Amino acid sequence: MNSIVRYFKGLMLLELIRGLRLTGRYLFSRKVTLQYPEDKTPISNRFRGLHALRRYPNGEERCIACKLCEAVCPALAITIESEMREDGTRRTTRYDIDLTKCIFCGYCEESCPVDSIVETHVFEYHGEERGDLYMTKEKLLAVGDKYEKQIAAARKQDSAYR
Ligand code: SF4
Ligand code: SF4
Repeated sequence: MNSIVRYFKGLMLLELIRGLRLTGRYLFSRKVTLQYPEDKTPISNRFRGLHALRRYPNGEERCIACKLCEAVCPALAITIESEMREDGTRRTTRYDIDLTKCIFCGYCEESCPVDSIVETHVFEYHGEERGDLYMTKEKLLAVGDKYEKQIAAARKQDSAYR
């Protein structure tokens, strides 16, 4: 009996009509997909993207080489070397983050006493060769310089919520 019903249902294209009815319903409803990369989804203010090292407005590096971020990093992705400068302040001579190890937990950012290492909202980056995702101090400072306005605005907004 079942096979006869299935036969007649198939003959009358009932499944096809049901499918087209569903397609028709979604054809005119509000779209939930975006045309990336032209359109972008909104991201949280606390989104953790590409790392950056920040400077003070006078151009001085914020980082005082306390190594808290290196100590707290659960992925052991940060390597810091430092030395004392002639003026008695301490600065890094090497500050590397291996992004292939990083799990983007944000602990480095949280631990930094001078707001130096931060995670930007930048997520559109990639590496094509071995080492491209190994962020040296120069690369991190360059990211910081490029996105300082965006970083400062995000941190201002973030502190308003605390
Ligand atoms: S985000 Fe987490 S894993 Fe990545 S460098 Fe910072 S502390 Fe390490
Ligand atoms: S980035 Fe911040 S936590 Fe890390 S060494 Fe520099 S001052 Fe210390």
